[in-house]
Amino acid sequence: MAKAAKTTASGKPQAFQAEVAKLLQLMVHSVYSDRDVFLRELISNASDALDKLRYEAIAAPALLEQEPALTITLTPDKAAGTLTVTDTGIGMSASELSDNLGTIAKSGTQAFMAQAKEAPSLIGQFGVGFYSAFIVASRVDVISRKAGSDDSHVWSSDGLGTFTVAPAARGPRGTSIVLHLKDDALEFLEGWKIESVVRAYSDHVAHPILLKEGDTEARQINRANAIWTRPKAEVTAEEHKEFFGHLTHSYSDPALTLHYRAEGRHEYTVLLYVPGERPFDLYDPARQGHQKLYVKRVFIADDVALLPPYLRFVRGVIDSADMPLNLSREMLQNNPEVAAIRKAVTNRVLAELKKLSESDAAKFAAVWDTFGPVIKEGLYEDMERREPLLELARFRTTTREAATLKDYVAGLRENQTAIYYLTAEDAAKAKASPQLEGYRARGIEVLLLTDPVDSFWVQMVPEFEGKPLRSVTLGAADLDLIPLPETEKAAEAPGLAALLAVLKASLGDRVRDVRASKRLQDSAVCLVNEGGLDRTLEKYLSRQKDSGVSVSAPVLEVNGAHPLIAALARRAEGDAKAPLLQDAALLLLDQAHVLEGEPLADPQGFGRRLASVMERALG
Ligand code: ADP
Repeated sequence: MAKAAKTTASGKPQAFQAEVAKLLQLMVHSVYSDRDVFLRELISNASDALDKLRYEAIAAPALLEQEPALTITLTPDKAAGTLTVTDTGIGMSASELSDNLGTIAKSGTQAFMAQAKEAPSLIGQFGVGFYSAFIVASRVDVISRKAGSDDSHVWSSDGLGTFTVAPAARGPRGTSIVLHLKDDALEFLEGWKIESVVRAYSDHVAHPILLKEGDTEARQINRANAIWTRPKAEVTAEEHKEFFGHLTHSYSDPALTLHYRAEGRHEYTVLLYVPGERPFDLYDPARQGHQKLYVKRVFIADDVALLPPYLRFVRGVIDSADMPLNLSREMLQNNPEVAAIRKAVTNRVLAELKKLSESDAAKFAAVWDTFGPVIKEGLYEDMERREPLLELARFRTTTREAATLKDYVAGLRENQTAIYYLTAEDAAKAKASPQLEGYRARGIEVLLLTDPVDSFWVQMVPEFEGKPLRSVTLGAADLDLIPLPETEKAAEAPGLAALLAVLKASLGDRVRDVRASKRLQDSAVCLVNEGGLDRTLEKYLSRQKDSGVSVSAPVLEVNGAHPLIAALARRAEGDAKAPLLQDAALLLLDQAHVLEGEPLADPQGFGRRLASVMERALG
């Protein structure tokens, strides 16, 4: 380790990680309309560094040294053309300077890079952290001394591909970021400008932000009060927006704000927001939430799982009034009070979402569109709250854009005893599925489930209001009891049994079975599975390593009333060995696969057979 530290502080130029170099290029060469973001980002980092020190100093008070004040100071220097952001926080060692400010850890930043080419102004929504300093600075020096250490180091870069880290004279604890401002960014030397940006975006940072101009005494320019501790009625929408922006690095409004104080056995304050937009790490496999836990206004941790993973998009603060401050992280994971808070707050979030669905359907619909696929994860992992989650869920169906299961059950057809659903990989495939035809013809509504998570939760939810959930692509369709309008009725072709036998013999183990269909109306054929897994789920699982699942041979269902099938049936009765029937069998199976949106297993064979059948038809 000592050796690594030595090389990182050698003063020799080191290359940025390739992604950082790309990001910096975007910063340096683009003109951002919302370039004020850099200040919010640097203040956020400073505030995190102060929070970390305050937390560590609970167990090790010596870390505070002779300097107990936790502050952020902004110092414009007109003569030097620099703006310096100084914090008295945890600081960084030489290797931390090199690791933290040479690579990208944040998934949000990577997502920003993927989209930045099309719309560089998006920067405000992503919050690219420290590197945004290069929007306004042609050179950045970071001087830092880690709390508890005697060594200061300076990191330095012009943002053009390399940086250096070198030893520096022992300075105060914490970090100073010196921005050598570009000519077009000199407005950030003006006190009024700095003050207005801080007021707009960092007013509720919980530490004092001081402005030090010239020889005058430093003065505090933010409110520095914990917004969640104020009475709910006093906090304005603007203030929520600012605090939400501080938490999420975004400039949008939250879709839902939850601010209350719980009293009783445990006392704590909750300020949570449902964002209006998807955060970029929503589908990160870690499924980690970012709710911040405070104890008596002291930041403790933001990785304590204060809400279940399916509510990971909810952001904000929970501040306990009665937990001890000196809990280790391991103890926090198993702390009974944390568990009690998680339970109560989870219920409250779901209750608020329900309230929103009743009071403002359009607003709730937007929340559901944004986060429904994640909330539905709760349907298979939170048995205890399955009922409230099922009540919240909205589904696209064959007849409606958004229906609840209650709506669905209210519209059941005569003799209909099940809730029917179709899973598919996207909405277009779902709507075009031939398996729906028999249901449509009978006026039966079918849920169209197109999120990957749908294939999984339907396995776990046996019924709603006593009606079982049933896939329209699984097993034989149980549609006999539900009347079909006269106009939709068609006679089954004579000779069908002979055709089914020929098809089965020709297709061999490519299919599990061939049978006459109840679910088809217009199409000639479709594929279903016999029992067990739905085909969509099989496809998802087969793509996952180690699932041990492969896509099984399907059942080919044949529409006995379709003119093509009728003609083939006549031929099968006359001459079961006709070569045309062999080709037709494979073509019908190929067609069924294509209708499922699947690629052809043997495109050459398909082409040959199709050409041969067309030749015969023309000849
Ligand atoms: P993020 O803050 O989202 O992690 P940044 O690129 O802004 O991304 O910062 C990278 C890392 O550098 C931070 O996670 C932190 O560890 C470190 N860092 C940045 N600024 C400071 C600071 N003022 N004091 C201590 N550490 C800092």
